[in-house]
Amino acid sequence: MNAPPKGVALLGATGSIGLNALDIIGRFPERFRVTALCAGKNVRSLVALAEKFRPSILCLAEPVAPSQLKGLPPRTRVVFGEAGMHEAVAAQGTDIVLAAASGVSSIRPVIAAARAGKRIALANKELLVMAGRFLIEASRLGGGELLPVDSEHSAIFQAIEGHRREDIKRILLTASGGPFRTWTVARMREATVADALGHPTWRMGAKITIDSATLMNKGLEMIEASWLFDVPPSRIDVVVHPQSVVHSMVEYRDGGVIAQLGPPDMRIPIAYALSWPERLPLELPGMDRHLTGEWTFGKPDLRRFPALALAYTAAGAGGTAPAVLNAANEVAVEAFLAGRIRFTGIARTVGRAIESTRCGKQSDTLQSVLDADAAAREETGRILSRSRDTRGR
Ligand code: NDP
Ligand code: MG
Repeated sequence: MNAPPKGVALLGATGSIGLNALDIIGRFPERFRVTALCAGKNVRSLVALAEKFRPSILCLAEPVAPSQLKGLPPRTRVVFGEAGMHEAVAAQGTDIVLAAASGVSSIRPVIAAARAGKRIALANKELLVMAGRFLIEASRLGGGELLPVDSEHSAIFQAIEGHRREDIKRILLTASGGPFRTWTVARMREATVADALGHPTWRMGAKITIDSATLMNKGLEMIEASWLFDVPPSRIDVVVHPQSVVHSMVEYRDGGVIAQLGPPDMRIPIAYALSWPERLPLELPGMDRHLTGEWTFGKPDLRRFPALALAYTAAGAGGTAPAVLNAANEVAVEAFLAGRIRFTGIARTVGRAIESTRCGKQSDTLQSVLDADAAAREETGRILSRSRDTRGR
């Protein structure tokens, strides 16, 4: 016993997942220690976290004035950008990299960490959607684990453990349905940013919350599941379950179905990805509150939520199409959050971007995927600038 604590580098430390992970790490100092903390621009929060967790490396997206770093522990080295993130994931004593930065800027450092055999606790599904093949390959080569943090994928991982892959009939990926589950298209057209940010069961960062409202999040998760569990999209079905208690299910060929359940609290799947194969005594509020109400299940309505259909189309096309889907979606969500397009304009914009971008099969190199991502962002910008969905601001 008394193994030394595992070193954890956190990408996206100041975000919803990052802070939940730090809550777990802070409660189990004998098991985990923070080696590196990375964020985008939020210097003040990152420095405050560094004061508490004393990492050897702190990384920000762009350089900042030294005066902004007051209070930093003397042994903490500050680095910037992608090169900085490479240093962060390679910080001395790092065993686990929590990939929880938003967007796709961490793709190369995360692939490098996987290739070096580190455990990747993966929240950042966009990385798998864009470059699944390369991340899976790197992890296989490195020999470390690629463990899901996303609650649905953690559920599937747990429902698959100990079973034979060839016995899986299909994956049933649960979705809360988001805040607009019962809304008409006409009502969704008028939805405000505040409406879309009001997720009924989960508290998350803004981008994923909007993705949950369009159901693009479920589309991205379907592609994520396909890579993680090597199951084709045609054998992954989405089930709407508004209570978010059943986190996903795996149906086997004998008709048996294994589900994983729990309160909707991201600290549970985060902790499992950090401590697997052990389970930590988290002592969080239990299931009691969820055992009294009804649990319901239904089919998603692809007409009202076309983003999910787009994800299946992109997954079916393969090659660079999922990268285009993801990049166009990121740009469209930003435009919605900035009040530039309507809620219903998000899926429409992504659809147009997929149609007008060459989604060829040529994704032989990571660079070809990164190029497709950049081209799709440009094309989506052009589509938005001439879009009729634009709110005249
Ligand atoms: P947040 O928006 O709350 O946080 C994003 C984090 O990424 C922040 O720490 C932010 O730093 C950092 N970041 C942004 N840009 C960069 C950059 N260029 N370089 C380095 N770091 C950057 O997002 P969430 O925590 O909600 O989500 C993070 C990821 O986890 C997403 O991919 C999401 O899909 C996934 N996920 C989230 C879930 C959740 O419950 N929240 C559930 C399942 C998956 P700063 O504060 O400086 O902006
Ligand atoms: Mg999820």
